[in-house]
Order: sequence, then C-alpha cells, then structure tokens
Amino acid sequence: MNKLLKKLTEAVGVSSDEGAIRQLIKDEIENHVDSWEVDALGNLIAWKKGTQSAQTVMIDAHMDEVGLMVTSIDGNGTLKFSPVGGFDDRALLGKVVQVGSKKITGVIGSQPIHLANATERQKIVPRKSMRIDIGAASKTAAGEKVKVGDLAAFLTPYEEQGSVALGKAFDDRAGCLVVIELLKRGPYPFDLAASFTVQEEVGLRGAHAAAARIRPDVALIFDCTPAYDLPTPPDIDESPNVRLGKGPALYVMDRASIQDPRLVSHLLKVANQHKIPVQIRRPGGGGTNTASIQRSGAGVISATIGLPGRYLHAPTSMISLDDLTHMIDLAEKGLKELKFEQLAD
Ligand SMILES: [Zn+2]
Repeated sequence: MNKLLKKLTEAVGVSSDEGAIRQLIKDEIENHVDSWEVDALGNLIAWKKGTQSAQTVMIDAHMDEVGLMVTSIDGNGTLKFSPVGGFDDRALLGKVVQVGSKKITGVIGSQPIHLANATERQKIVPRKSMRIDIGAASKTAAGEKVKVGDLAAFLTPYEEQGSVALGKAFDDRAGCLVVIELLKRGPYPFDLAASFTVQEEVGLRGAHAAAARIRPDVALIFDCTPAYDLPTPPDIDESPNVRLGKGPALYVMDRASIQDPRLVSHLLKVANQHKIPVQIRRPGGGGTNTASIQRSGAGVISATIGLPGRYLHAPTSMISLDDLTHMIDLAEKGLKELKFEQLAD
C-alpha cells in the first residue's frame, strides 16, 4: 500500500481551503529541503540548493481538488450548491460529501427514482435539482451545522487493487507525490524550487504567484490527464487520448499552452534511453499550471508530464501505480540529465 498516496488523497483541500493538505506536505518534505515558505495565496514553496549551476528549475503540482460550495439553505434543511472547479454533474447524484469546518457528512440527493415517471427517468437530473442532504429537519437546524459559503469535498477512501489505485483527488495529489519524491531524491546540479500550488482548479491562480516568486529558468509541471480508454469508444484504436498503464503522458499542446518542444524532446530522449514507457497525450483541450508558469516574468521554458487517470473530476478516479512509478523515474532522470545549453537554441 502506498501510504503516502493514501494520506495525500484522503486529505481534504477544495480550492481555497488547502490548509490541511499543505500541512501534510510540509511535514513530509521539511527534512529534505533547505528552506520553505508559504506565500500570501497559500502556495507552499520549498527550496533545495543545487550542486553546480546557478540556474533554477521549478517543479510544480497543485494541492487543491474540485469540490462544491454551499450557496443557500432551503426551508427543509437541504443545501443548494455550486461547483468549485470543472465537473460532470452526472457524477454527483448519490455521492457522500463532507461539508464545512465541522466536517458534517451529507449525501447528494434528488427526487427518488421510484417516484419519477417514464419521461423523467430518461432525463439527466440537472444540478439545480440536486441538494446536499445533511439530515437536518429545517433551515435553522441546518444553519447550526453549516453556513452559506462552506465548501464540501467528496469522501472517498483510498484503495489499491493489483496495479491500480482508486480514490479521489489523484488530480493532483499524485502530482504532489511526484514532487515530494523528487525532493527526496535530490540534490540536482541546479537549484530546485518546488511549488505546491493553490486554486489550480478554478483557473491556474496559485501558480501565477508562485512563478513570480521563484522566477525559474525551466519548469516541469506534474498533473493528471484524462485516460479515455474506457468505456471503449468506437475509434479507440485511431485516436486514444492516453491509456491507463501505458506510462506517463507528455503534453504537447492543450487549450492553454504549447509545451516547449526542446524540453519535450529531452524528456522523450530520456524515456527512450532508460526504456521508461511514455505516451504522447493527444493535443487538445484542458489546461494546466504550465499556462500560468510559462508566460510568467520574461517567460519560462516549460513542459507538463501528466499521469493518466480515469474519471478525473469525479468522486472516484483510477490510476495505474506503474504509471506513477514511471512518472517519478522519468522526472528524476529528466532533471538529472538536463543540459541547459541544449535548451538555449
Ligand atoms: Zn489537475
């Protein structure tokens, strides 16, 4: 059992409420870094001195996870909510959540299926018809436990089954694990600055400030990317996005950034030399902290390595533990074999 991954994913940290996960990561890295700080937004930034050059490489993963926010309390004691981060609303119904600082357990409910007529059963239940039910009998009773503006997170225990792990918030606690592991495996020839950033899921916000503080020469961003290999779409053989178990995925282009081609070639070369399985993520939608970091300051040579995950941004997602191991290996070797002069032309 990967105990650290279990701890990281079971910790609650919806965007803007990253305190608990930040504390956990700080305790984990403290003895492996030269110094650390928490900035005004809540980003945790850790520094590790290099052995040779004066260059700085930033490694980044976001700490926050998608969740919900209570927007009003109905007269019957149930809670209306809005999403925090991007969601597939169809994944919400029937899921267990933990609401607010008092950690009140609730379930996302709607009209009972038993009472739905034939037409209603064919329809997708819209989010506005769903409520979080915390078992309170009235608005007053609910108000004693939660308040408008409280955040709700999914309650999903971490489990491993053979080579896969199931749980919540692999996006991007798996990336946090990679960055933690890279700090432990240092030092590197250059200075390393690790950022565990806030509020990625609501618009890559924390990374903006972290990059301004670090002012890196090169940045490697670790995130999750959707594996669209199940259920099998008809054209899976022609255009899979990425597949689970086939190795970490190198980004080339997404909606928000184009990765530095020199850095992507370097990572591909390293993967080939060390026989680390790797896949190219199909260029297309999505966006990561790379977009914020790449265009910070006078510009940063940046690339993203994605861990394939099924059902990301849903209460339970699935990753391959082998992909995770390969992602750490690729990143470690990619960093240790990085030649700045090769990136200069
Ligand atoms: Zn992410």
